[in-house]
Amino acid sequence: MRREDKNLPRVAIVTGGSRGIGKAISLKLAKDGYTVYLTYVSKKELAQGVCDEILSHGGDAKAFMVDVSNRDQVTSFFKDHVRGKVFLHVLVNNAGITSDGLVLRMREGDWRKVIDVNLTGTFFCIQEASKIMVRQRQGRIINISSVVGLSGNPGQSNYCASKAGIIGLTKAIALELAPRNILVNAVAPGFITTEMTKELDEDTKKVYLSKIPLNRFGTPEDVASTVAWLASEEASYITGQVISVNGGLYL
Ligand code: NAP
Repeated sequence: MRREDKNLPRVAIVTGGSRGIGKAISLKLAKDGYTVYLTYVSKKELAQGVCDEILSHGGDAKAFMVDVSNRDQVTSFFKDHVRGKVFLHVLVNNAGITSDGLVLRMREGDWRKVIDVNLTGTFFCIQEASKIMVRQRQGRIINISSVVGLSGNPGQSNYCASKAGIIGLTKAIALELAPRNILVNAVAPGFITTEMTKELDEDTKKVYLSKIPLNRFGTPEDVASTVAWLASEEASYITGQVISVNGGLYL
């Protein structure tokens, strides 16, 4: 850390921190002492609610509207609120969407939308954060992939491609940034109970549950504790890895 950076707030950025897994990560990192900058795209009240919860427990957090698939919005966020203003300890690329359909019927728009948010959005944030982390000579980048990025899943070719892409991106960038003391890892959750999975019908949920050796769905907190560990000193010799948090599920 440079001498002039020492007095700056120690920040963790969590994209898509307004709900689900991103909310749990934001709460956990705040508990671990970081000032949390969480982003959202449409649910301002939820994002502010997460900040209020953190503030009420004596922590520090701010919410920002940033569509990660929009390069200008990502660039402005880092320029206006991060670069030179805080010490950026960790970036968690969590924002993600699904738009499922069988490949034969998938519209190009559904393909592009999912790749743009999940993969290109992750790339935009990494590019901006790594400029700052290189100067700091320190940083952690944690990308949220998925079990289906490792295994594939019918009806989710766009989502699986985006999540497998995140794994390749993680491994390449880990190699590029290791000499600068920036550690880059991915977390691959299995089936976690959030808005994203709430929509699935009961029969599909039963099929998934039957494949989970630990016989329960994961919680956002299960993922958050792994992310917090990867951000901690205890994980300072780990880079370029994909950590599965899936109760033993392999589709
Ligand atoms: P979720 O409950 O649907 O929340 C998605 C989050 O992403 C929200 O905060 C949302 O913001 C934000 N977001 C969506 N589009 C965005 C954009 N264009 N720019 C910025 N933020 C955007 O999802 P989740 O289940 O917590 O999943 C979080 C991550 O874990 C995703 O990457 C997902 O693919 C991954 N994952 C989830 C599961 C699971 O079982 N749930 C399993 C494996 C991996 P708003 O609230 O403003 O809409």
